[in-house]
Amino acid sequence: MDRCDGCGDCVEVCPEGAIQLVGGLAQINSELCTECEACVQACPSGAIKVARPIAVREEPVAAVAERPRPSALGTLAGAALTFIGSQTLPRAANAIVGALDRWLSGKLAAESRRVAPSEGKPSGRRHRRRGGRE
Ligand code: SF4
Ligand code: SF4
Repeated sequence: MDRCDGCGDCVEVCPEGAIQLVGGLAQINSELCTECEACVQACPSGAIKVARPIAVREEPVAAVAERPRPSALGTLAGAALTFIGSQTLPRAANAIVGALDRWLSGKLAAESRRVAPSEGKPSGRRHRRRGGRE
């Protein structure tokens, strides 16, 4: 308000009655002011400036911080590892499945050899006659 000469134009245009002259200088009541800027337009001396509150950033600073970009070497290494992984993992899985398959087949064959000799023979289990005697 250094440039104010007390002409009173701003007091006339303020729709909120927020401005009054005190000691020959305009004084704005910030509790009534709605920042319509009518007084800013009306002041011939350019003495009024509207101070807008600084927008408050709601998200934490860490959340908006830019992630570090990978270097060209890092990108190349990542691509190479992806390629190796895509080639190696299926082969390893196939090898494991094959080994399990062979092991299971061997187990089944051994089991069938062990069971085969007893086929067709009586089980050896005694049957009780009626009355409880054998
Ligand atoms: S900006 Fe504020 S003081 Fe100026 S005319 Fe509008 S309400 Fe009144
Ligand atoms: S219009 Fe400008 S110069 Fe006139 S009283 Fe208001 S602030 Fe001061």
